[in-house]
Amino acid sequence: MTDITIALSKGRIFDDTAPLLKMAGIEALDDPEKSRKLILATNRANVRLVIVRASDVPTYVQYGAADIGIAGKDVLLEHGGTELYQPLDLNIARCRMMVAVPTGFDYESAVFQGARLRVATKYLQTAREHFADKGVHVDLIKLYGSMELAPLVGLADAIVDLVSTGNTLKANNLEAVEEIMPISSRLIINQAALKLKRETIQPILKAFSEAVEA
Ligand code: AMP
Repeated sequence: MTDITIALSKGRIFDDTAPLLKMAGIEALDDPEKSRKLILATNRANVRLVIVRASDVPTYVQYGAADIGIAGKDVLLEHGGTELYQPLDLNIARCRMMVAVPTGFDYESAVFQGARLRVATKYLQTAREHFADKGVHVDLIKLYGSMELAPLVGLADAIVDLVSTGNTLKANNLEAVEEIMPISSRLIINQAALKLKRETIQPILKAFSEAVEA
């Protein structure tokens, strides 16, 4: 039987993926939140999970170090993802990519065509494309975490970030002013693996698809 490696991140994505994996007949033998292991065996001798940082999932799959991956659309857009087969929207870890500003900031007036705006974000590609489409010039400031802080201390006028409940924005006196796109996690598959390991991958893909339907 062909060996299959599935790359995913712990936290939100693992929590939401575990039930789908279970419906597909795959269960991790260790809990990634408790174990420090990076490679987790499963109940199926030929299937293993590798636990990587969310933004690294597409890289593992692109190079074939993992056959299958689970990654947010936000991560895939930043990665580029050209060589990745993305057959299935898992509809998990759902949230929205939004533009947010300090409460009371007049965003509409600030983004007239030809205006210049300082935007802090982890999602440079997504933000660049969004503002280019609007004809708004932006100075993008790359951050790696807690973007919500940037407008509060004068680093930026606005942020582009993921919003789920909106609680983080609210707690920091920010408000969402524009939705860029809805986000959810996708199954990604290495192109070569799909050809070479089709007999093993296809049933897993089918099981995932049925689990999502259910
Ligand atoms: P919330 O307070 O529920 O709106 O969550 C916002 C915070 O959680 C922000 O820092 C986001 O970057 C992060 N976040 C929300 N949803 C997701 C998701 N699906 N994937 C990754 N990060 C998320």
